Amino acid sequence: MRLRRLLFVYQIPLWACLLLAFACVLGALDARVKATAQASQTRAQLEGINTLLLHTLDMETGVRGYVVAGDPVFLEPYREAVAALPGDFAALRQLFADPSLGVTVQANRTASLARIEALVTRWQQDVGAPEIEARQRSAAAAQALVKSQRGKRLLDTVRREVAALNASQTDSLRRYEAEAVRQLRTLRWTLYSSAGLLLLLSFISTLAGANVLVRHLQALTGGAQRVTSGAEQITVPERGPAELRTLARTFNDMGGRLHAARQAAEAGAAQLTGRNDWMRRLGDLSDALQAARSLDEGARILERALPALLPGTRGTLSHHNASRNLLVPVMTWGAEVAAPMPSDHCWALRRGEMQTPEAREFSPGCPVAGGQYVCLPLFSHGETLGLLRVDSLDGQALSAETRQLLPGVARQVALALASLRLQDRLLQQSIRDPLTGLFNRRQLEDQLSHHVALAQSGGQPLSLLALDIDHFKRLNDTFGHEAGDAALVRVSAVLRDHAPVGSTPARPGGEEFALLLPETDLGGAEALAERVRAAVAALNLSHAGINLGQVTVSLGVAELAPGQATPAHLTGAADQALYAAKRSGRNRVMSAAAALATPA
Ligand code: GH3
Ligand code: MG
Ligand code: MG
Repeated sequence: MRLRRLLFVYQIPLWACLLLAFACVLGALDARVKATAQASQTRAQLEGINTLLLHTLDMETGVRGYVVAGDPVFLEPYREAVAALPGDFAALRQLFADPSLGVTVQANRTASLARIEALVTRWQQDVGAPEIEARQRSAAAAQALVKSQRGKRLLDTVRREVAALNASQTDSLRRYEAEAVRQLRTLRWTLYSSAGLLLLLSFISTLAGANVLVRHLQALTGGAQRVTSGAEQITVPERGPAELRTLARTFNDMGGRLHAARQAAEAGAAQLTGRNDWMRRLGDLSDALQAARSLDEGARILERALPALLPGTRGTLSHHNASRNLLVPVMTWGAEVAAPMPSDHCWALRRGEMQTPEAREFSPGCPVAGGQYVCLPLFSHGETLGLLRVDSLDGQALSAETRQLLPGVARQVALALASLRLQDRLLQQSIRDPLTGLFNRRQLEDQLSHHVALAQSGGQPLSLLALDIDHFKRLNDTFGHEAGDAALVRVSAVLRDHAPVGSTPARPGGEEFALLLPETDLGGAEALAERVRAAVAALNLSHAGINLGQVTVSLGVAELAPGQATPAHLTGAADQALYAAKRSGRNRVMSAAAALATPA
């Protein structure tokens, strides 16, 4: 039901009562007016009867005076009364014709009036007129008529009739007046009780209407207060009049939207907090990578950081090898197994952009990785450094959130990779000989000091091999400096190929080479030196299409002696052995011990 109709319905009893009260008051007022009117009618009838009696008496008095005095002056009231009496009777007949008196009362009074009129007429005809006529003749004749008492009897009858009529009228008047008073009381009571009842009903209907509104509004107010105090989603019952139901529905709608907005804001805040935390960790990774000294150290840092920064993923970080034809794994995470792969197989590198499973729709596909991988090429300073390949641990496609994180991670990793590769290059430049790629003198000396100390403390053998190209000046002079360089490179390659893991092949300067052999005794070193010598001698060297002829080398071998345990002693002994080999005719190996037996 609509609110207007509901409030209207609550007012109906009040209006019904108002109508009833109005009818009651009207009825009481009518009765009072009627009673008052009847009383005044009766009063008028009484007055009419009195006037009639007065004129009758005037008539009788006038005749009597004329009879006694004989003066016609006394007949004046007689004549006036005779003239007035028909009017008196007519007026009374009209008053008695009132239908409100009732048929019986009306008939009785009309009959009584007719009798009085007949008696008065008889008195006029039989008493008044004959007595006046007799007095005109003689006083005695008139007195004789008076003495007959016929007039007196008639008038006494008239008086009785009038008295009876008067008594009846007076009785009626009393009743009507009592009725008027009673009706006045009834009217007052009706007015008081109606006013009281209406006041009460107005109070009740106003209270009931307000109650309905308050009851339904209370639910809304309570709901609004709970929403304000931050309660969860509030739903108020959709009850009551149509307008309040609409209000409740709108409130519930609004509450729902508010709740959704609050949830979205909370989710946004949580996301922001998570994002901030993630950014802080990415910053920590960046700091750690900047502090790293080598690519290997950087890889160890990434092995710990990437599973935390990209949870639920596995993957590989690869970089280009020196000749940029292979992508070599630097590190993996999430139990990923990786192997080198040709760079030109990678579509991410070819296109220079992130490759997703969706973007690979028209690509031939990766020959190494499965279909769900996301691959990010790593760039820095315009140079392609390598590739970051990421997959989810559960084999499903990577979530959108994880994909959003990937470019940030790739940027940091690329920067670190560039920096570490640069560091590595600078380091290599500082410890390597640029022509042959072997370690330089400084690195050889560092390694010597290091391994001598190690050998002394551990009691392990340590040998040094010194190598010098025979008659290199002649080769230079004959084929030119470039041909000499080519020969240096080839000889250095032979030395590197024969250098065992952990050894230090070096070019201390010119056409001299060295090989530091930890954990190798003199016998082992001599055998190795012999293999190197033979391999060099077997080389077929040519440069720019010109055969350089056979190149030979002489080698001196020394082992660290327990009593002379310094790097200088070891290099000195190896050099001495080398000189002895030269002296002995070149293209040979000489140990330090044998050198001592060789004449200077
Ligand atoms: P031996 O058999 O006694 O060692 O005679 P050798 O000629 O090899 O020795 P020598 O010390 O007389 O000559 C060494 C030459 O090596 C002199 C120098 O011009 C040459 N040489 C030194 N460094 C380089 C280099 O980097 N490139 C070239 N092409 N030649 C070099
Ligand atoms: Mg030399
Ligand atoms: Mg030489």
